[in-house]
Amino acid sequence: MIVHDITIVGGGLAGLRAALEASEYTDVAVVSKVHPLRSHTCVATGALHFPPAPNEPKEMYLQETIKGSDYMADQDAVEVLADGAEVEIPWLESWGVVYSRGRDGEVLRASPGGMSTKTGIIVSSQWARELVMALQEQLWRRGVTFYDEWFATSILVEDNMCRGITAYEIRNGEFHTIRSKAVILATGGFGWVYARTTNSSACTGDGTAMAYRVGVPLKDPEFVQFHPTTLYPRGTLISETARVIGGRLINSKGERFMERYAPNFMELAPRDVVSQAMQTEINEGRGIEGKYIGLDLTHLKMEELEQLLEITNIPLSFFRRRLGEFAELASTFAKVDIKEAVIPVVPGQHFWMGGVKTNTWTETPIKGLFAAGEVACVSVHGANREGANALTECVVFGKKAGMRASEYVKNEELRLVPKEKIKDEEDRLYKILNDGGEYSAPKLRDELRQTMWEKVGLFRNEKGLTEALKKIRELKKKYTKIHVEDKSTIYNNSFILALELGNMLDLAEATTLAALTRRETRGAHYRIDYPHRDYENWTKHIVMYYHPEEPVITYENVVITMFKPVERKY
Ligand SMILES: Cc1cc2nc3c(=O)[nH]c(=O)nc-3n(C[C@H](O)[C@H](O)[C@H](O)COP(=O)(O)OP(=O)(O)OC[C@H]3O[C@@H](n4cnc5c(N)ncnc54)[C@H](O)[C@@H]3O)c2cc1C
Repeated sequence: MIVHDITIVGGGLAGLRAALEASEYTDVAVVSKVHPLRSHTCVATGALHFPPAPNEPKEMYLQETIKGSDYMADQDAVEVLADGAEVEIPWLESWGVVYSRGRDGEVLRASPGGMSTKTGIIVSSQWARELVMALQEQLWRRGVTFYDEWFATSILVEDNMCRGITAYEIRNGEFHTIRSKAVILATGGFGWVYARTTNSSACTGDGTAMAYRVGVPLKDPEFVQFHPTTLYPRGTLISETARVIGGRLINSKGERFMERYAPNFMELAPRDVVSQAMQTEINEGRGIEGKYIGLDLTHLKMEELEQLLEITNIPLSFFRRRLGEFAELASTFAKVDIKEAVIPVVPGQHFWMGGVKTNTWTETPIKGLFAAGEVACVSVHGANREGANALTECVVFGKKAGMRASEYVKNEELRLVPKEKIKDEEDRLYKILNDGGEYSAPKLRDELRQTMWEKVGLFRNEKGLTEALKKIRELKKKYTKIHVEDKSTIYNNSFILALELGNMLDLAEATTLAALTRRETRGAHYRIDYPHRDYENWTKHIVMYYHPEEPVITYENVVITMFKPVERKY
C-alpha cells in the first residue's frame, strides 16, 4: 500500500500550483491520468487576469466579473480571487515563464470579452505548456512523487473523513490504494460530455463525479459555458484574442450583427451574449451556408493595424505571431486563407462554471477533501465566466488548497481505510472489465454526447430537457450491462473509456436536472421558454446531492456584498 500525507489528483495548473505550495511543508504526490503536459491547461492560449490594471481601481475588475457572472458569482469569493491574483500572478513569472510585453516594456494587457478593465495579460500559445513544464520541474526538484497515467477511481471516505483514493495504473492494469491524510481534487472540467467542445478528451469530470458520489454536493451544474468561436465543423478553439486584435463576426448578409445585440462591446461582449447572438443568427436563417458565422480577419491590413497598435500597445511581433497562428489553424483545419476569406465558426462547449462545492479555502464538506481549479465551484464565475478568469482561478485557489491541506495534515493522523471498501471498489472495476453485457460503451458515450449537445446546449427548453433526462436515465440503465471488448491489462483505453462514461453519465444527469429546475434565463443558461432573468426569485444557487435513485436538490443564497443585480447591458 502506498502512503502520502497529501495526494493531489490532477496534474494541470490547479494541481501543480497546489503541489508547489504543499511540498514546502509536507510529503506530496500527484496522480494524473494523462501526463501533466497533456493536461487541458496546456492548450490555454488566451489570457489570464492580473487585477488591478495600472491607473484603475480594483473595483472595476470586481464589478465587471460580477456583472459578467449575471450576478450569480459569490461576491466574497470574487474578492478573494482578485486579492490572490495581485500576489500570485507576478510570483508566477518569477519561475521563469515570462509574460508577453508591450512596446513600453510593461506586461501586455488587454480587455478580454465582456470587460473594459485592462487586467487581462495576453499570452502566447505555448505559454501555458511552458508554465506546466516549469512547475513540474520545480516539483521534481523537491522530490514530489508523480504517478503519471494512473486513473483515480474513487475517494475513500469513512466517518465523513477523507482517507485516500483508489487508482488503476493504466500502463499495467494494477489496482492501487493510496492512503492519505488529505486529498486535493484538481481534475478539471467535463467538456467531453458534449459532442461539440473545445476540451480535450481527458476532460470527463472524473473528480467531480467521484466527490459527488461520496456525498459532496455539486453547485450550479446547469451553468455551462459555450465559447463563441470554435472552428466549424471540427470544434477547435479560435481564441478570443482573434477578436481582441480586431476580428469581426459577420453573417450571410455580411452584417456585423453584434450591433443589434451589444452595440457598445460588439464582438467583445461576454461569451454568453456573443454565443447566443451567433446561434440566433444561424437559427433565423442568416448563417453562412445556413450553418456558421464568419470570423473576419481579412481587414487586418498593415495600415489599420498600425492604428490599432497605437491604441492597444500591442507590439507588432506579438500581433504577427498570433495572426500567424490563426492563419495556420484556419488553413490546416478549414482550408481557409484568412487574408482572403472568413473563418467558419460556431459556438461550442468550453467551460463548466458549476462543480464541486467548496468554500473560499477550497474545503468541501468532507474533512480532508479539498478541490481547486475547474473541478470546483467556489463560485467566482456564477452563470458566465469572463475570459481569462479560469487560469487565475487555478493559480489562486490551487495555492489555497495546498496551504489549507498542509495545515490540516499537521494535526491529523493517518487513519485506516476498511478493507471491505477497497475490495468493493476493486470488484466494481473488474466487474465492468469482465462482464459481457450487451451494450457497447463507446456507442452509449456517443449517444450521451449528442443528446447533451442537442438538448442541453446553448438554447434549452422544458421539452428538450425532459427528453434528455429520460434518455440519460435509459443510458444509465444500459451502462450496468456494458461490455469492454479489450480485456488486456496494458494501456486498455476501452476500459478507461468505460470508467469515464460512468462519471459522465452522473454529471450529465445532474446538469440536465438543474437546467430543468432553473426556470429563467441567466448567463449561459438560456431557457427559450423562460427568456427573462428572474433576479428576485432565482438569485440562488442550486446545490445538488447524489442519490442512487434521483439527485436531491437544495438551494443556497448568492453572497452579495458589493453589487446588487441589475439588468446587464453591453
Ligand atoms: C482550448 C482551451 C483554451 C483555454 N484558454 C484559456 C485562457 O486563455 N485563459 C483562461 O483563463 N482559461 C482558458 N481555458 C480554461 C482553462 O484552461 C481551464 O479551465 C484550466 O486550465 C483547467 O485547469 P485544471 O488544473 O483545473 O484542470 P486541467 O488542466 O484540465 O487538468 C486536469 C488534470 O486532472 C487529471 N485527471 C482527470 N481525471 C483524472 C482521474 N480520474 N485520475 C487521475 N487524474 C485525473 C488529468 O490527467 C489532468 O492532469 C481554456 C480552455 C480550453 C479548453
